[in-house]
Amino acid sequence: MEAIEKDRVNILLVDDQPAKLLGYEAILDDLGERLIKANSGKDAFQHLLKEEIAVVLMDVCMPDVDGFELASMIRQHPRFERTAIILVSAVHMSDLDRLKGYTSGAVDYVSVPIIPEILRAKVTVFAELFRKTKQLERLNQELEQRVAERTAELSRSNEELQQFAYVASHDLQEPLRMVSSYVQLLARRYQGQIDAGADEYIRFALEGSARMYELINALLDYSRIDKANSSFVRVDCGVALARALENLQLLMNESGAEVSRGELPVVRADETQIVQLFQNLVGNAIKFRGPDVPRVHIEARQDARDWVFSVRDNGIGIEPAYAGRIFQLFQRLHGRSEYPGTGIGLSICKKILERHRGRIWVESQPGKGSMFHFTLPQDLGASARPPKTTPASPEPKGARALRGDAG
Ligand code: ADP
Repeated sequence: MEAIEKDRVNILLVDDQPAKLLGYEAILDDLGERLIKANSGKDAFQHLLKEEIAVVLMDVCMPDVDGFELASMIRQHPRFERTAIILVSAVHMSDLDRLKGYTSGAVDYVSVPIIPEILRAKVTVFAELFRKTKQLERLNQELEQRVAERTAELSRSNEELQQFAYVASHDLQEPLRMVSSYVQLLARRYQGQIDAGADEYIRFALEGSARMYELINALLDYSRIDKANSSFVRVDCGVALARALENLQLLMNESGAEVSRGELPVVRADETQIVQLFQNLVGNAIKFRGPDVPRVHIEARQDARDWVFSVRDNGIGIEPAYAGRIFQLFQRLHGRSEYPGTGIGLSICKKILERHRGRIWVESQPGKGSMFHFTLPQDLGASARPPKTTPASPEPKGARALRGDAG
């Protein structure tokens, strides 16, 4: 019954004496496997080439080719590396040494007179091993196939979404420009000439179109991250950070922020995007400040595979329950009147890191500051590290860049 349900494997019986073949057959018949008989070495090889054989059972002494030779031939052939060989012989076990150079697969031995239980046990083990290996290979293939299909599906829908975001934000620019210019014209010509109510409406319209402009541009930036055709180069993260801080000069000066950093590595990356990454994270660290002067510290350490960067601030902090949400598009935890922004900065960071095979997350508590972490693979990076430089930026006016590794 079981024999019908399981995948039967082929067992090749080789002997020049038909009586012996019948004997093997009688012993192995109730294993429920498929028994194939060959009466010469040549015949055996023909079967091996035609069918998938799990176990070869053969006599060491045959007229055309001896069992050892045949076993050697089988062993040399990569196609048969999973085929087990059981030699039947009256000769001593140590003769098996003759097969040493080829024993990439299982080779075993039964002596004559054959004890049926022993032969059955050996054949069963090898047949089972073969069957299990085949099943595993099949499962593996199916799994790989499924993973490949899912990945293709995912990247297709991802691409479609990105294409949509790109087209939408790109095509929205034109009508928005029109609305915005006419509202500006209206303001220039008629502000203060109609009445106070009209002035206010015009102001709202101007603010609305400016905001929409900001959002559309942010969305466009977002959808362009994967489109960037700039290649990955060696990027000194210390230099990238300094460039980001230059872009943040205004915010730094106005807030008197203190920014320090530890030693930062050289990685292989898209330079513009690494600058943007630092700019968004440090910009947020300063923007979401509490009552104290903002203090930001950037450093990196090595784990098994990645560089793990951290950007730590002493700002307002984040409720842990929202720690995942803030990386989604347009997700903000505060009103615009409190803290300006579009809610796209961290989604851009996440996307940049996905493109670089990295991750981003945050550790924070309200009122206790935040620590944003992100990783960049070391294998993209070169081993060279910059010298232990200290100020995180060209010293900005009004802002104090801390010296040394404060971390
Ligand atoms: P934006 O800064 O334009 O609001 P982001 O995507 O950069 O958009 O950030 C999303 C939200 O995450 C912010 O609105 C803010 O609520 C929170 N956040 C980001 N960085 C910090 C930080 N360093 N400290 C406290 N909250 C932060």
